[in-house]
Amino acid sequence: MTIVVMTASCPECAAAVKLAQDVEKGEIVQCAECGAELEVFETSPVELRLAPEEEEDWGE
Ligand SMILES: [Zn+2]
Repeated sequence: MTIVVMTASCPECAAAVKLAQDVEKGEIVQCAECGAELEVFETSPVELRLAPEEEEDWGE
């Protein structure tokens, strides 16, 4: 059985983020490049947005 993996661009660093083909809307994935938590906002085509958890101060 072939595992198909989709990729979408990380909105934070533009790296390709791998997603399972059956990824669901609202799922949270993490970018391997910058570590940002991303929410799957759309699935066709896949669109990622930063997960709404930015209250923590990453910038310090
Ligand atoms: Zn990233």
